[in-house]
Amino acid sequence: MIVLIDNGHGADTKGKCSPDRRLYEYRWAREMARLVVNQLRALGVDARYLVPEEADVPIGTRVRRANSICTQTGASNVLLVSIHNNASGADGTWHNASGFSVFCSKNASSRSKICASFFTDEAERRHLLGNRSVPKERFWTWSWTKADIGILKGSKCPAVLTENMFQDNKADVDFLLSGKGMKDICDLHVGAILKYIDSQTK
Ligand SMILES: [Zn+2]
Repeated sequence: MIVLIDNGHGADTKGKCSPDRRLYEYRWAREMARLVVNQLRALGVDARYLVPEEADVPIGTRVRRANSICTQTGASNVLLVSIHNNASGADGTWHNASGFSVFCSKNASSRSKICASFFTDEAERRHLLGNRSVPKERFWTWSWTKADIGILKGSKCPAVLTENMFQDNKADVDFLLSGKGMKDICDLHVGAILKYIDSQTK
């Protein structure tokens, strides 16, 4: 199985940082993508970066890249994980919402849903859900807007998007920038991805 790691936004995406500018989402997600890819490769998994660039790569381009690999390999032999930090406001101030959540597209396949539920399991095990409730499906969809999540909707392969804590919650930012935070969230991703690969190869 090929695991595509998408690091979301680029250096030129507006906003997307903590109120004190200690954490920039694009930078944090790239560092996390590097840790996850390295750990997966060390375990013998064919893990690849969807976006090696620092700059913003439009969703359409990212979807085309993923789908061209799906065409070569077969969509069920590919998994896409898009890494982000959540935010509850866009007003440059701190907020209370905290914790990890994982999203699927509204049109998600059963494989995407199974994979997402593994991410919730791994986050729960590590006490990383903060004050997020867990929907009974064990994942979230973009239910508060009519729009869907472009990278998930357009990709032919199973795909999930992780919102790793809140960039506008001070305790979450402290955690995200700590060695323990980086390790726990990397382990969460690797653990869920390995469980998914295992579930598909039995
Ligand atoms: Zn994001």
